[in-house]
Amino acid sequence: QNLEGQDNAIRDTNDDATVSRLSAAQLGYLVDPFVHLFVRRPVRRSPIINRGTFIRQRALDSLVEQFLQSPGPKKQIVALGAGFDTRYFIIKSGPGAENLKKYFEVDFPELTVKKAMSIQRHPALHNILGPKEDIRLEKGGTELIGPDYCLVGGDLREWDQVAARLIHHGLDPTIPTMFLSECVFIYIAPEVSQYILEWITREIKQAMFVLYEQIKPDDAFGRMMLKNLQERSIELKGIHAYPDLSAQENRFMGLGWQKAKAVDINELHDHWLDVTEKSRIARLEILDELEEWHLLSSHYCVSWAYKTDEPDTPWSSID
Ligand code: SAM
Repeated sequence: QNLEGQDNAIRDTNDDATVSRLSAAQLGYLVDPFVHLFVRRPVRRSPIINRGTFIRQRALDSLVEQFLQSPGPKKQIVALGAGFDTRYFIIKSGPGAENLKKYFEVDFPELTVKKAMSIQRHPALHNILGPKEDIRLEKGGTELIGPDYCLVGGDLREWDQVAARLIHHGLDPTIPTMFLSECVFIYIAPEVSQYILEWITREIKQAMFVLYEQIKPDDAFGRMMLKNLQERSIELKGIHAYPDLSAQENRFMGLGWQKAKAVDINELHDHWLDVTEKSRIARLEILDELEEWHLLSSHYCVSWAYKTDEPDTPWSSID
């Protein structure tokens, strides 16, 4: 197996995610004024994918908002495998901005160099970071640093090096820190993601982790889904999905975190999304394949967990 090909295939999954977000934005599911700046060839996705993209985004936005708006000091966010995620720009244009101390993003250098170029090319993006003289590139353009934004090029499988860069750029282990992993850990061997979680447990005093990814790789539908994914990216081989929701929770509880919760997309759609939102999206597109929607949605989960050494954390109410 050609390792470089395998890594290219992993990086290509980012285009997929960005195109899906643009599709959902253009059809009115979600608002993202920045995503089009990262897509060359827009593609309209199926209603199932659009709806799934929307619910994932809503759930993660809600967790991020609750975290940023909880009482206490300013907070930092570290997005692992951030790809062309636009969340920093959205936060900075909204009410959570004043509680954000710093936003870090990590992805392969091959990808961060492209993101850094897009940010520099588009005033709509770099104006949000701050004055041009306060923005600088490092490491051959694979890192872009602004007053409260830091894009780091690195391989998560070499976590010690990535962590050293984050600390070099001012990651503060004493303030509340949210780590985000959206469709990333499944591309990394479980012992490596475990290593990252152990580092966070040891080094960060108050941490929250938010994770979104596929689960249940072993039932018939899960096998078919992973096969489709692998066929689209010929080189994509190693996918490491966890078996179920409780396995996701145990990733954190096993490390002594105070709380971990995992829910699937069906649960979020049926029991969490409010009624007006549900009927709003139901009107955007006709979704006939209800059985397929439910099946697919049972294979994707959002998990969140926290650990803190403070007896009374405001995050215990985040839900
Ligand atoms: N989180 C983004 C989102 O949800 O839009 C991108 C998701 S994309 C499916 C997976 C991302 O993880 C890609 O950008 C890929 O390059 C990154 N990634 C996967 N393995 C990585 C690794 N070992 N080191 C750094 N980035 C990695």
